[in-house]
Amino acid sequence: MTQITIALTKGRILKETLPMLAAAGIEPLEDISKSRKLTFETSAANVRLLILRGVDVPTYVKFGAADIGVAGKDTLMESGADELYEPLDLNIAHCQLMTAGIKGVPPKPGRIKVATKYVNIARDYYASQGRQTDIIKLYGAMELAPILDLADEIVDIVDTGNTLKANGLEPREFICDVSSRLIVNKASMKMKHQSIQTIIDAIAKAVSVSA
Ligand code: AMP
Repeated sequence: MTQITIALTKGRILKETLPMLAAAGIEPLEDISKSRKLTFETSAANVRLLILRGVDVPTYVKFGAADIGVAGKDTLMESGADELYEPLDLNIAHCQLMTAGIKGVPPKPGRIKVATKYVNIARDYYASQGRQTDIIKLYGAMELAPILDLADEIVDIVDTGNTLKANGLEPREFICDVSSRLIVNKASMKMKHQSIQTIIDAIAKAVSVSA
């Protein structure tokens, strides 16, 4: 039987992904949210799940350590996911990539400092607007950077906008919409085509039903 490994992340995306996997006959044999384990057997004897950090999912799939993964479009854009197939928009975990700055402060002209964990997306976006930037890489709490004068603007994910608001910031420019995508290793897609296509088709059906 062809072995299939699927890379997922914990948290809100997992909650919405599990029903789609269940529709493909893939259900973890124990409660992932209550376990510290990183691999899980499933009701499909040939399918196992890995629980990774979101930013690591494209890496595992790119190198074939996982055949299939679920990753946010933001993570895929940032990691340059051109070596992967992205056959399906799962239509979950919707949010937007935005620039943001201190509320009421007009955007600074000329070269600006931008703090973000999305350094590639930020560099490309500001360059596309003809604006010069110094990009400062942060791993979290980006919202603090403008307040403490570490940066003029940030690039981050915005859903309701509450996080920006709670930290005295306001959204400025829309960069792109984000949702979770199914990604597939290119070699796996060839070598394990039938098994993987069956999973993709079942998940696609579950997506269109829930849409
Ligand atoms: P909000 O306060 O609703 O605008 O949410 C903003 C914060 O929630 C961001 O800084 C992200 O860390 C996180 N967030 C919201 N939606 C998502 C998503 N779909 N994927 C990943 N992180 C998200």
